[in-house]
Amino acid sequence: NANQQLILDLIRDVPDWPKPGVVFKDITPLLADPRGFAAAVDELVALAPGPIDIVVGMEARGFIFAAPVALKLGAGFVPVRKPGKLPGKVHEQSFALEYGHETLTIHTDALWPGARVMVIDDVLATGGTVGATAALIKGQGAELVHVAVLMELGFLEGRGRLVELGAGTLSAVV
Ligand code: 5GP
Repeated sequence: NANQQLILDLIRDVPDWPKPGVVFKDITPLLADPRGFAAAVDELVALAPGPIDIVVGMEARGFIFAAPVALKLGAGFVPVRKPGKLPGKVHEQSFALEYGHETLTIHTDALWPGARVMVIDDVLATGGTVGATAALIKGQGAELVHVAVLMELGFLEGRGRLVELGAGTLSAVV
């Protein structure tokens, strides 16, 4: 549709960043364009399967989309952050990333059993980030009802990895 074309037109390929051989999908031109940013948020909102209690977004680019999506869905927002950033008691989950290793954390009291949670991120690459986030959500007994990303890099097979991890259903805007 027209929104998807607009979004694709506003995501810039940056070759050899952050390291040689990687083509980084730069979303900053999309964010800087009011119509493009609104289209991205609207398309992510449209992927919500029914009522959502909490939208979880991952540091840092996930925050940018997850917060407005949460507002539009009438849901709360919960951040998943890198170690040392959240002030309260946290659960931790480590995973292998496209460019190394990473650990993510969530407040231990952020979710509750049966909470309907949707995860939002900008780009799905290897699936490591979403997989770790899914584990943090399920670890609190919450229900991960859907994962929605703006862009899926299909060649990295993140979707297959998420199926292996039992991370639930996933859809991508582009
Ligand atoms: P994964 O864990 O799926 O390998 O990587 C996804 C995470 O890394 C996302 O949180 C995303 O923000 C970041 N990421 C990986 N590759 C790219 C990229 O090409 N563009 C952007 N914007 N983010 C990326």
